Amino acid sequence: MTKAPNAELPKSVEPIRLAEQKATLEGVIPLEGLARFGEAVGGSQEGRECHAKLSFYQDGERRRVVSGELSAPVTLVCQRCMNDMQVTLTSSFDLGLVSSDEQAQRLPKTLEPFLCEDFTADLWAMVEDELLLVLPPFPLHERDECPAKEDLEALEPSNAPVEPEAKKRDDNPFSVLAGFKTTKH
Ligand SMILES: [Zn+2]
Repeated sequence: MTKAPNAELPKSVEPIRLAEQKATLEGVIPLEGLARFGEAVGGSQEGRECHAKLSFYQDGERRRVVSGELSAPVTLVCQRCMNDMQVTLTSSFDLGLVSSDEQAQRLPKTLEPFLCEDFTADLWAMVEDELLLVLPPFPLHERDECPAKEDLEALEPSNAPVEPEAKKRDDNPFSVLAGFKTTKH
């Protein structure tokens, strides 16, 4: 029951049944279909897809678990230079499928609860929640790749490379004294 990697993941599934079948679903979700994520990211993610691999199973305590791995290339806006930056968001997670808050509270700390009502679950919402968790709140280019790097260095003189200039003077501490002596004679 493994889906082709490039097929679209179903939106609505029966996770308990999938866990009993030890099913693995692998496929993609178009990012444009994730409204909350789109709002949080801002800008168009046209044509972009999140690749997801979701394994459903029962653990040793007969808890129903979903282990997921996500990878989504997205365009974010660097908060330093305000230019686009390409980032691949990745996430791996383990969720315990529960049907009540009481069950959720009995889960070990290693499992985040995922509430399944009416025996169905919205897989897209599950993936969307996990993507939102790994979305950087303040995305920045790597310092050397950011077009605003020079502005930044100007604002942070302590981090600017002043070292060579200072060293030059230290190398010859007597030059000033020597000059003084010469003029005196
Ligand atoms: Zn930048």
